[in-house]
Amino acid sequence: MGLATKIFFPALCFGCGFPGDYLCQRCKRSRVGFNFQQECHVCRKAVFSKFIHNECRQYTYLDGVVVGTQFQGVIKQMVHDFKYGGVARLAPVLGDILIVSWRLRSVAGSEGAVVVPIPTTAFRRKWRGYNQAELLAQEVARGLGLHLQLGLTKQHGMQTQVGKSRSARLASQWQGMQLAAGFEWKGRSVILVDDVMTTGATLEAAAKALRMAGAARVYALVCARG
Ligand SMILES: [Zn+2]
Ligand SMILES: [Zn+2]
Repeated sequence: MGLATKIFFPALCFGCGFPGDYLCQRCKRSRVGFNFQQECHVCRKAVFSKFIHNECRQYTYLDGVVVGTQFQGVIKQMVHDFKYGGVARLAPVLGDILIVSWRLRSVAGSEGAVVVPIPTTAFRRKWRGYNQAELLAQEVARGLGLHLQLGLTKQHGMQTQVGKSRSARLASQWQGMQLAAGFEWKGRSVILVDDVMTTGATLEAAAKALRMAGAARVYALVCARG
């Protein structure tokens, strides 16, 4: 896509095709079904007035995962175009879904939390032109009035992962997660941001790295669970 096309091509609603926004107000109300009920990310059953069942805590490094909406319809299309279609301008639309979802939970103890995007490798970033999670994290930090922290990086690609056992995959992913020196993670609450949660292995690897650096709480905030 040429520069002129990028600048002048009007945004069309992903739901109804109406020009103006990528998601018009009408479609946002009628086509995005926000998850009002919190689901425990370990057993995927409903959990009330908290994020995770006490008995499920032993299986995860995350204190909770907030999933904005269902991975279907306009959301699925938008996430896909945001990730693979180079449509960086979708960040505010998807970011808004994250902000609304986080506020719906009214998380106790998240004041002063830092917002951290799930990192991508330098190769992928170069290929795509941006890290989609970082753009979303910027929106979330701005919208919630929290500090954005980019100190989590990923060192190795995933190309060697095929054929390895699940446990070997998890171990190497954790080893790939690195925290920059010069930021005090100790006692911090962290909100990890990504577009979609799939197996959860990447989020767990990031959470483990943050916990080892002393983070007190690590939450994840994603648009949908694929
Ligand atoms: Zn629409
Ligand atoms: Zn559970």
